[in-house]
Amino acid sequence: MILAMQTSAWLMALLLLVQAGQAPAVPESVRRAADGITAAQVERDLAFLSSDELRGRATPSPGFDKAADYIITRLKAAGVTPAGDKGTYVQAYEMHEARVDAATATVTINGAALRLDEGFVVRSFSGEPLTGTWPVVYVGHGWVIPDKGIDPYAGMNVRGKVVLTHGPRAMPKDVTIQQFGRVTVGATNVTTEAARRGAVAVVMIPQTSAQPGWWQQMQGQNLVRRELHPSVPSAYAAAQVTSALLSRAATDGLMQGERYTAAEIVARGDSQEYPASFALSKSITFSIPSTKVVHRPYNVVATIEGSDPALRNEHITVMAHLDGAVGTRSVDGDDIYNSADDNASGSAGMLSIVEQMMKTTRPKRSMLFIWDSGEEVGLWGTRHFVANPPVPLSSVVAHINIDMIGATRAPGTADEQSPDVPGPNEVYLIGPGVLSDRANALIERVNRSYLNMTLNRADDRWDSEFFYPRTDAGPFLERGILTIGWNTGLHRRYHQPSDEAKYLDPKKIEAVSRTVFATLWMLADDPERPRIEKPIPISVPRHR
Ligand SMILES: [Zn+2]
Repeated sequence: MILAMQTSAWLMALLLLVQAGQAPAVPESVRRAADGITAAQVERDLAFLSSDELRGRATPSPGFDKAADYIITRLKAAGVTPAGDKGTYVQAYEMHEARVDAATATVTINGAALRLDEGFVVRSFSGEPLTGTWPVVYVGHGWVIPDKGIDPYAGMNVRGKVVLTHGPRAMPKDVTIQQFGRVTVGATNVTTEAARRGAVAVVMIPQTSAQPGWWQQMQGQNLVRRELHPSVPSAYAAAQVTSALLSRAATDGLMQGERYTAAEIVARGDSQEYPASFALSKSITFSIPSTKVVHRPYNVVATIEGSDPALRNEHITVMAHLDGAVGTRSVDGDDIYNSADDNASGSAGMLSIVEQMMKTTRPKRSMLFIWDSGEEVGLWGTRHFVANPPVPLSSVVAHINIDMIGATRAPGTADEQSPDVPGPNEVYLIGPGVLSDRANALIERVNRSYLNMTLNRADDRWDSEFFYPRTDAGPFLERGILTIGWNTGLHRRYHQPSDEAKYLDPKKIEAVSRTVFATLWMLADDPERPRIEKPIPISVPRHR
């Protein structure tokens, strides 16, 4: 060891440090491992994962199982440590699929038994049968907005009762509620509030201002509920209470002999001049039987342990949902939803990241790699993971999300006309700009010194749905964990049978995966713990 240096050497070393922006460069061996991620390999993996044989990898399905087996075989071959249940790569959870018995479901009002789709339609289904007779409390629009002093439940007790409101989407008058997808900022809607206050059901008085044909559109809807069990709080948790919208004739029966006639209360709803809350004199009887099937979907989870004896107890999670959104449309005779960009691209990229990570020196922190399931149907796998993590959630310092990374907008590509798809060597980066200057600077620095991709920040904004809540990053952010998302934007093939590998750019998957690799390694090796340093936006509820 050299104990002393000449002054000039010290100065030179100092100068170099300053020039590097106080960050060490990506070590040569790490860069070589990142360079080992190739378009040829990701193209092969993408081809299998998005093949017709796997039919889009719905959760659960034989196609998802084949995709998971494919990943697991490769993890075993690479010698990656399992991090699932009982020493396996599989982390399973329960999903309950509950179905209303449409033929026998009735709601009885004022002595008249109303049949489903005649006297009422279902707006949300709690997953449990609903049988009993309960008193009814009218709550107007049913929204609660604390900052504006709006609380129609004040002085009313709705526990063990039916909440009566206007529907399907009554709003308070002259109040704008900021909404991002499923998130309402500073406000809770009637079904959320009813569930929170222990109501047994919600019943809605129809709005004559609703769209023409609304009744026909709502018939037969919302009769099946698929949800993680036990449910884990999140923006994407399924409804916890059953709600029904009445026909106009059923409303006549309900309001007979009450404080307002049906005509009056419908008119008040239409004009948003809602009467003060009141208890009705009559009760409503529900008989909504249902059946339930229990499924066992799963995530694939593996870990690479860090090199530092202390910091290896901290983790960075890296996630790519392996499932696809499988619908029922047929386009030009093709009814297979290959789900290639969404998200075979990210699944393939992450597989290469893991394989190459096994070939280089370990960063200080440990890494957990999760190919989750159920993303497209309610973030089931991620919500289960954050509620049942294989390591303490407090040890997860950052979450990296890889979802749709295969598209390029350039002359001659399938996305030449897709305005939201980034150009060659460009990718959306989402999260660090809002949450952490330090992580943001590290990613910028590493990227500049490596592939120098253009990091598009159009969605690195608190009010973008892609920041929150539309991705697997949501449940992590809800629990106070720094989230870093990578994607290449939406295009016309999104959630269509045409989301096929042939329209994607393997070179883009390669570039994004290499960049994720280098930034992940450097973040995992950062002596300072990555964390959220800025306030978490008001749009994000806290569930921890
Ligand atoms: Zn996706």
